[in-house]
Amino acid sequence: MRDVGTISAQTRLIALLGDPVHHSLSPFIQNRAFREEGVDGVYLALRCDEVDLPGVLRGVARAGGGGNVTLPHKELAATALDHSTDAVRRTGACNTFWGEDGEVHGDNTDVEGLRRALHTLLGGPAEGARVLLLGAGGAARAALAALLDEGAAEVEILNRTVERARAVARRLGGERTRVLEGRAGLVDRSFDLLVNATRLGLDHDDPLPLDPGRHVQVESVLDLVYRAGETPLVRRSRELGLRAMDGAEMLVQQGAVAFERWWGRSPSVEAMRDALQQVRQEP
Ligand code: NAP
Repeated sequence: MRDVGTISAQTRLIALLGDPVHHSLSPFIQNRAFREEGVDGVYLALRCDEVDLPGVLRGVARAGGGGNVTLPHKELAATALDHSTDAVRRTGACNTFWGEDGEVHGDNTDVEGLRRALHTLLGGPAEGARVLLLGAGGAARAALAALLDEGAAEVEILNRTVERARAVARRLGGERTRVLEGRAGLVDRSFDLLVNATRLGLDHDDPLPLDPGRHVQVESVLDLVYRAGETPLVRRSRELGLRAMDGAEMLVQQGAVAFERWWGRSPSVEAMRDALQQVRQEP
């Protein structure tokens, strides 16, 4: 393990850019992985508004560093790159960037992170699964891309604002995606997997995004929301005996893929999970 105190003129800056960023758990996860793997880098959160975002992102990357991008700048970051991965082009969002030969590269590791989290939940690919996807924001786009890559048989999208769901389906969907006009379309329906990509569950007094015991029959539940303790959807799902997981595993897995982009090798996912668990337990 590298000594944390050793910051030299070779140390790479890996920066989290967003607004706000003070609540982020990524610095705990990444700095643990950096120490564990002995790479010469430091991960810092930099609050950054939309005027500064493109310049800071390009400047950090061209100075030999890299980073992550979080809300509300993932779409803007996608427009500041010289080279985009397929995941960025499909979702229109970038959450990871780095420099190579003076050019700025970007990926959206939420897509692969979600795919890996699904494998942890289901014990294998979601091939052939019938999926109900709640939400139509950035996380829902990453989820839809990952589910289609996994070979899901059908993904039905339900969102408070139906037009946003239609836009997501038009962008990524194809023949295996359908948009639901409202909860009425769920009566007597059953799905293999429910994915919550709305923000409901972040605040203590949030209602359930959907009650798996009342509104729909499902076998497994992946909630992308994470916070201290169980989310209400995960708690309810487990009470019903369903297989359920919150967004912590996806957070770790998208971070592991980002680490691979910056350092060209895989980190210890166990160490990253452990760092997240420790910080979540702190009062
Ligand atoms: P976003 O682009 O702002 O989208 C928010 C989504 O939540 C939209 O579908 C929105 O519906 C819906 N929503 C918000 N308030 C609602 C309400 N009161 N009732 C019903 N629906 C509501 O956010 P995002 O980036 O997609 O993130 C969504 C969630 O995923 C957040 O909790 C975020 O923390 C989580 N996330 C987790 C990870 C991870 O690694 N685990 C990664 C990315 C995101 P409308 O379209 O109708 O506004």
